[in-house]
Amino acid sequence: MTRSAIIIGGGVIGLCTAFALQRRGVQVTVIDAGPREQAASHVNAGWVCPSLSEPVPAPGLTAQSMKWMLKSDSPLFIAPRADPDFLRWLLAFWKNCNAEQYVAGTAATAALAERTMALYDDLRAQGVEFEEHQDGLLFAYLHEAALHHDHANLDTLAPFGVEIPPILSGEEARELEPALSRNVTGGYWLRQERSVRPDSLVSGLWRRLEINGAEMRRGERVVGMGGSSGLVRSVITDRASYDAEVIVAAAGAWTPQVVAPLGVKLPIEGGKGYSIDFTPPPALPSAIRHPLYLHETRVAITPLDGMLRVAGTMELSGLNHHIRPERVRALVSRTGEVIAGWPSQVNLDAPGVRVWNGLRPLTPDGLAVIGWARGWRNLAIASGHAMMGVTLAPATGEALAEQIVTGRAPEILEPFNPARFG
Ligand SMILES: Cc1cc2nc3c(=O)[nH]c(=O)nc-3n(C[C@H](O)[C@H](O)[C@H](O)COP(=O)(O)OP(=O)(O)OC[C@H]3O[C@@H](n4cnc5c(N)ncnc54)[C@H](O)[C@@H]3O)c2cc1C
Repeated sequence: MTRSAIIIGGGVIGLCTAFALQRRGVQVTVIDAGPREQAASHVNAGWVCPSLSEPVPAPGLTAQSMKWMLKSDSPLFIAPRADPDFLRWLLAFWKNCNAEQYVAGTAATAALAERTMALYDDLRAQGVEFEEHQDGLLFAYLHEAALHHDHANLDTLAPFGVEIPPILSGEEARELEPALSRNVTGGYWLRQERSVRPDSLVSGLWRRLEINGAEMRRGERVVGMGGSSGLVRSVITDRASYDAEVIVAAAGAWTPQVVAPLGVKLPIEGGKGYSIDFTPPPALPSAIRHPLYLHETRVAITPLDGMLRVAGTMELSGLNHHIRPERVRALVSRTGEVIAGWPSQVNLDAPGVRVWNGLRPLTPDGLAVIGWARGWRNLAIASGHAMMGVTLAPATGEALAEQIVTGRAPEILEPFNPARFG
């Protein structure tokens, strides 16, 4: 029986893992460097969306990303970098942009996500308080060919409990969501999907863990780990040294840095995304009622209590929080393509408007990394959740806690085994 665990990282993955371990009787300590606003878990679009289980490396993306990489306002921007690890990562990523990996990756993630809604209900039942909306997720399209292509892809998800919705015409989509502009030619509504307010989820989990007796260390950075004979014996922070029977490295895009002192190499890059909050939402002829996805340009729009969040874009430029204004402007103008009456000029410095950015932890095969680190008997990894961390966090926590406590990995975790990276 595992009695104690240290979880490095207080994003949604670390907190859900800590929560699942605590429920199994493990005394947990969570160490998070902060500031909280820089975690992907704070700035994301808040969608709980098993229907978006497809991995980032997709067929056709190699050619597309080569075109996009020269344009710094494109949906996927790759900043050129002469870093051998990054170049290796990029080649592996491009290699994975094929149909076979895509279908297998979609199935693996969809299987992990299958119990997501029940697990979210369970979090609430266990006293975790957070803002949640059950308005589904409306995909809006400018071009019919893209709509039919993406709709056909949904079939892969049907075996995992995703209800396949009918295609809506432009008029039907506007009837459901009057805020859509006349540029929208059609869409579909995945009514079972949900959305949460990301910061409320993180703070709700943090508070519940604390109330239940966890040791929560905020503003403390892990700077080293010591170990021998396959066992991690100490976790060293900028303030103190800790030990526990099990260590979970769940530091998002920084996880490779955290485990590097133990000689563990993880191919995880930071995929930067931006979000813009409007509090209150911009005055529009019709207020936006549903979370919306403009799949062609990868823009996510989430109405939350008293505010609107617009999020998206993927930028591979290393571990930094530098803001590229042209990417933020592109997000705003792409929103104007789908929303009727969206202001042609948005003052990003106006009161009530805030721009964030966060790093999605991204592996070259697009799959998360969950399980024991190769060569270490008490070091587990929970990272690499890319665009799906909010969706997959409760399932990741439950499955990994089960593996840690029982010593048996649930079958569902097999495709996510860290050992696949050799
Ligand atoms: C713009 C955007 C939109 C997104 N939208 C969605 C969405 O709608 N739905 C969805 O499912 N997913 C979405 N995602 C993805 C999701 O946000 C991430 O997959 C998820 O938040 C990753 O969580 P994490 O806990 O692994 O990492 P993070 O949230 O980044 O947390 C890592 C934590 O580790 C801490 N840390 C780092 N280094 C150290 C150290 N040395 N010592 C101690 N602590 C350390 C950091 O302070 C941080 O708090 C989106 C992401 C972005 C950027």
